[in-house]
Amino acid sequence: MMRQKLVLTHCFKGLFGFSSVICIFFLNVSRQNEEQRSLELSGHVGFDSLPCQLVNKLVARGFCFNILCVGETGIGKSTLMSTLFGRTFENEEASHYEEEVRLRSQTYDLQENTVKLKLTIVHTAGFGDQINNEESYKPILDHIDAQFEKYLEEELKIKRSLFNYDDPRIHVCLYFISPNGHSLKALDLITMKKLESKVNLIPVIGKADIISKNDLKNLKRNIMNELLSYGVQIYQFPTEDEDVAEINSSINNCFPFAVVGSTDDVKIGNRMVKGRMYPWGAVQVENEDHCDLVKLREMLLRVNMEDLREQTHSRHYELFRRCKLEEMGFKDTDPDSQSFSLQETYEAKRKELIRELQHKEESMRQMFVNKVKETEAELKEKEKELQERFEQLKRLHHEEKKSLEEKRRELEEEMNAFNRRKVAADTLMGQALQGCSQQPLKKDKDKKNFFSLPSACSLTSGRNLN
Ligand code: GDP
Repeated sequence: MMRQKLVLTHCFKGLFGFSSVICIFFLNVSRQNEEQRSLELSGHVGFDSLPCQLVNKLVARGFCFNILCVGETGIGKSTLMSTLFGRTFENEEASHYEEEVRLRSQTYDLQENTVKLKLTIVHTAGFGDQINNEESYKPILDHIDAQFEKYLEEELKIKRSLFNYDDPRIHVCLYFISPNGHSLKALDLITMKKLESKVNLIPVIGKADIISKNDLKNLKRNIMNELLSYGVQIYQFPTEDEDVAEINSSINNCFPFAVVGSTDDVKIGNRMVKGRMYPWGAVQVENEDHCDLVKLREMLLRVNMEDLREQTHSRHYELFRRCKLEEMGFKDTDPDSQSFSLQETYEAKRKELIRELQHKEESMRQMFVNKVKETEAELKEKEKELQERFEQLKRLHHEEKKSLEEKRRELEEEMNAFNRRKVAADTLMGQALQGCSQQPLKKDKDKKNFFSLPSACSLTSGRNLN
């Protein structure tokens, strides 16, 4: 054991920061094997170089680390990331006018000594900017689940390459709490409660330099009390490993970290440090009396990076995988039941899916039949309405025709009567003219008499009509 530790210590002499991940990984592996029976070998065989072989392989492949930063726009997420890693990460300017929470992720290839790190930083654009923040946590949970899903898909592939696979799963979530206010907001509590079972959650107070030390102390206390009373489980640095137990257990009492971010250099005495300059003095971000940035970096990158990766795999991903597989119909066998058979599970699931499909088909068919019936009924109704309208028009037409016939008949009768009167008048006039030619002397007198007769009047008017 001691020898392995020495080998590893030697291997990593001179490596700092995230390269220490590998050391912790191997110490954990060796500790798990401690309970096994050990035999003394008579001479040096050489398998004690196995950790080094593995380390070399891992170093050659490189590591992935994915950080999710959740917090309001402008709380200092991007600045803190740049401060933590000592380089400026170009980032899209955040806006307060996002319609919904949008997750933006960017990946960077970093290298420290011989250790390569693929770092992915995920930002939550628009978080806390909406009027209704009720659903703000959903896109974050969906993103975390989507990464687990991708990993599971890779695991379930026939041809899988997990060794070279760039792990997309979120290893840590830095939850930024606003320094304004006396404690957590409802949005913070709800979101943290939802995230606790999905990711390693570390609360931090952003822009901690804008409140006084006293206020900061009270804020930290209030936040911890509230997290405790609402049962929000935050990540605890592991204390099982004796090498890091002391530092980790002392830092476990420092939550939440009060951080200040800055990538600017300020002059303090005759040296340049990272900090924020104010008219009344400077805040040095790497000064432990000013803020907890150094503690956070120490815990996150130098001491517990591998534990964060491991917890993601063994706790959060395992939970997701279990639920997903159970949902798919897989289950572990009880000790008293038959042994687990993948074939049987597959068959059972297949049958279940076929049943579901048939059920869906049947309901769709029923829906189609109902729709056809409905349309048929509607068409029949329309046909009936049209028929009624037709009958009504037919009746109207008939009545109109009848009344016109009646009028025609009346007019014909009037015409006949008129013709009869006309004939009578013509006859009278003929007779009168005849009488005139026989008695010329009485002409004027008879003429007078004739014009006084009513039939003569009607004759005149009849002629005029014609
Ligand atoms: P993000 O939207 O959360 O990524 O916020 P940014 O990192 O872009 O920071 C928004 C503004 O706050 C910038 O002007 C930063 O200079 C400033 N800022 C960032 N961190 C701090 C901090 O710790 N203290 C103070 N006072 N300002 C900060």
